[in-house]
Amino acid sequence: MIAGGGQAGFQTAASLRQGGFAGRVVLVGDEPVLPYQRPPLSKVYLSRPGTDGIRLRGAEFFEESEIELLRGECVAGIDRADRSVTTESGTTVGYDHLVLALGSRNRALPVPGADLDGVAGLRTVADADALRAALPSARDVVVIGGGFIGLEFAVAAVDAGAKVTVVEALPRLMSRVVSEPTSEFFAGFHRARGVDLLFGTSVSRIVGEGGAATGVELADGTRIDADLVVAGIGVRPNTELAERAGLSVDDGIVVDETLRTSDPAISAVGDCARFPSPHAGCPVRLESVQNAVDQARHVASRLLTGEDVPYEAVPWFWTDQGAAKLQIAGLVGGHDRRVVRGDRDEGRFTIFCYRGDRLLGAESVGRAVDHMAVRRILTAGAALTPEQASDVDFDLKAYSKSLTSRPR
Ligand code: ADP
Repeated sequence: MIAGGGQAGFQTAASLRQGGFAGRVVLVGDEPVLPYQRPPLSKVYLSRPGTDGIRLRGAEFFEESEIELLRGECVAGIDRADRSVTTESGTTVGYDHLVLALGSRNRALPVPGADLDGVAGLRTVADADALRAALPSARDVVVIGGGFIGLEFAVAAVDAGAKVTVVEALPRLMSRVVSEPTSEFFAGFHRARGVDLLFGTSVSRIVGEGGAATGVELADGTRIDADLVVAGIGVRPNTELAERAGLSVDDGIVVDETLRTSDPAISAVGDCARFPSPHAGCPVRLESVQNAVDQARHVASRLLTGEDVPYEAVPWFWTDQGAAKLQIAGLVGGHDRRVVRGDRDEGRFTIFCYRGDRLLGAESVGRAVDHMAVRRILTAGAALTPEQASDVDFDLKAYSKSLTSRPR
């Protein structure tokens, strides 16, 4: 039984079947559509509509694989003693093992006027459809939050011909996940495309007329015109169901290194799970497709083999912001040293982040080869000195391909 029909839930079901699981597989998802990929929603989908391209599999896949897909259904409760879940519509499904792949939801904009027409978030295909319909007539767009989602949407809004302002509460872009030089590069990139970036300030209210947004007011009283306001201010994990069931929750459903919750008959994967990561040295919750897919595969494999193997996949992320494509390997938070390979002015560089002598990860713009090499190096648990990293004559690709052992 799998609760949650996003990428992690879908992958758990698909991997169970691919691995030869012969039992019943039920996948319950609250969205009415077939499981789909979210990353394109804030990118190509905004200019190139059509759900076929983002769908993970067609309806026939679920039939042929005998995956019972309950769409538009929300799991309302878990009865751990009975080993069953009940949906909001009153269906009860028993389980031997329950996988929670409940994902996350957008943080709500905590200001007056957030309910006006023309104020939106971007997470689901329904959100993306609404924004795609609004973009052609939008003249003044304010994006609240300079994270991945906000900046990807800003690119689409500029491309649609709008005047775009990004309001970011912190002093730099994407500060939750990237280093200062990468933030700086992207700030320059967006400014060069005509985006107005405002840092260290927040929107105190959204003003409107006749029920529709006409602008935003900043904390210092400044007004900015806006007929479309998009908030990308981060997400909250969907943990309420787990909490009500008495599972351990701490900004995410707490799982051990095998991705089991505090009830061994229940696992959690993807955005909603907080897990101990050897790459962070502490429990983390990651919001990425890689994390959803790899954790789903891990749990499916554990259920198929019965073997308890710790989850150790190297985290990686990406964001496409028009011509600027950023790939991140590893978790670079807490680094105390950086070296650069390539040329920042040309927009082709990799920033390697170290804590002491240990390579934590790297951020690559226009250098996919470096990104792949760093993923291999981190997977092998191998060393890479800052001198090797910054020396373009050092063959990073060949070195990373020569690694096989994982001495960690
Ligand atoms: P996502 O990946 O969904 O874009 P992030 O958490 O990476 O989410 O980015 C959200 C950004 O929004 C962060 O940079 C955060 O500092 C910013 N932010 C959060 N709340 C506000 C707010 N009220 N006003 C402006 N920016 C905000």
